[in-house]
Amino acid sequence: MSRVVVIGGGVVGLATAYHLARRGTAVTVIDRGRPGDACSKGNLGWICPSLSHPVPAPGLTVQSLKWMLHRDSPLYIDPAFALSSAGWLWRFWRHCNQHDYHHGMGALSELNRRAFALYNELRADGVQFEMHEDGMLFLFLTDQGIERSFAEFQAFAELGLAVPSRLDREGVRAAEPRLAPDVRGGVRVLHERRVRPETLCAGLLARVQALGGEVRSGVSITGMTRRGTRATMVETAEGRLEADAFVLAAGSWSGHLAKSFGFSLPIQPGKGYSITITGPEAAPSHAVYLYEMRVGVSPFNGAMRLGGTMELSGLNDRIVPERVAAIRRAAARYLPGSTRGAAEVEWTGMRPLTPDGLPAIGRAPGFDNLYVATGHAMLGMTMAPVTGLAVAELVTGQTSSFDLKPFDPGRFQRR
Ligand SMILES: Cc1cc2nc3c(=O)[nH]c(=O)nc-3n(C[C@H](O)[C@H](O)[C@H](O)COP(=O)(O)OP(=O)(O)OC[C@H]3O[C@@H](n4cnc5c(N)ncnc54)[C@H](O)[C@@H]3O)c2cc1C
Repeated sequence: MSRVVVIGGGVVGLATAYHLARRGTAVTVIDRGRPGDACSKGNLGWICPSLSHPVPAPGLTVQSLKWMLHRDSPLYIDPAFALSSAGWLWRFWRHCNQHDYHHGMGALSELNRRAFALYNELRADGVQFEMHEDGMLFLFLTDQGIERSFAEFQAFAELGLAVPSRLDREGVRAAEPRLAPDVRGGVRVLHERRVRPETLCAGLLARVQALGGEVRSGVSITGMTRRGTRATMVETAEGRLEADAFVLAAGSWSGHLAKSFGFSLPIQPGKGYSITITGPEAAPSHAVYLYEMRVGVSPFNGAMRLGGTMELSGLNDRIVPERVAAIRRAAARYLPGSTRGAAEVEWTGMRPLTPDGLPAIGRAPGFDNLYVATGHAMLGMTMAPVTGLAVAELVTGQTSSFDLKPFDPGRFQRR
């Protein structure tokens, strides 16, 4: 039986370990902290194939330059980051065009077509986690917003990935009675789901262990030894670990590790924030998106999470008060009373972001037995099972059931 080491125990690493373990592979997950404790913890947990689009979008360059002046804007680029990472930012902005956006949408949609089926399989296999299947509701303060968003969902409807319906002022209140008077209408997207991220990571971890996998916490990978095109072992503070294959799934830290392994993977952290309110006084009954403010709301069992925003400021876990306050303001504007509850926790997490907005899934350039599974940006929860399956197929030499060309980790090498 071959041995595989998965570097990083976020949702992507855990889903990869799960699919490998199910194929009878001896798998070890190594995490520098506690598995599931980084970006995969406090996010909104939407499983949303109908939002399969890359982050770089037409018009975002000009918009992000304007937003750069405001620390509480939906996308904030820290001036120090802009200087130190100008090359990455330039590549990101170059992808903010119609052609690349539509190419990315097509590629992501193809993969996400199987997202729900794979979540059903996790459940059927006994992975325990909280999941809700009652769709999403987008709320708008302007009629233009409704028109624009509905048109975007229709593009996904044509790809078979969304069932959107437009709701007027009364319709949206029939779905969610406690809305502020300013809310003009909504778009409801049926079939989308949400999971409580912490429960999904815990469920995957337990199932990996039940299948014989090993999970090691508090162990940081610091380097790799290779012989020709084969990686032979990873180095940790606790010693070296040999394996037949390796999967790099270290989220926002993957770029630095890739560099030390000898290849280029331009991943930058896109920081987001959330506030989890336990015992909320006024939670909506659906997952709700506050469109103009770019804030999402996820009701869970006994709790509600408000989250969103994107901050490019490098690797750090600082909680910037202005950004958390902006989330609170947005919630109060659409859903009065929704920020009150028995207790609350503020959180920040770093989404792994590539300059073209597509994840890197596949064999690492220059290696026969090192694979990459990262860069999922806003879609890591949605895509974790799909990615895990795709990587497990590659590692175990099965014919891939996905077209992984658009996600080739080698696309970033300088030619
Ligand atoms: C506010 C917010 C809301 C979001 N909402 C959604 C949503 O609704 N739906 C959705 O699909 N996605 C959502 N996302 C995105 C999603 O959270 C991420 O895409 C996903 O969690 C990334 O998972 P990951 O496993 O790649 O990374 P992580 O969860 O960050 O895991 C990487 C792991 O690698 C480990 N690691 C790093 N370096 C090393 C090393 N040297 N050695 C060993 N281990 C190492 C880390 O400790 C960490 O545990 C949201 C993100 C944010 C911030």
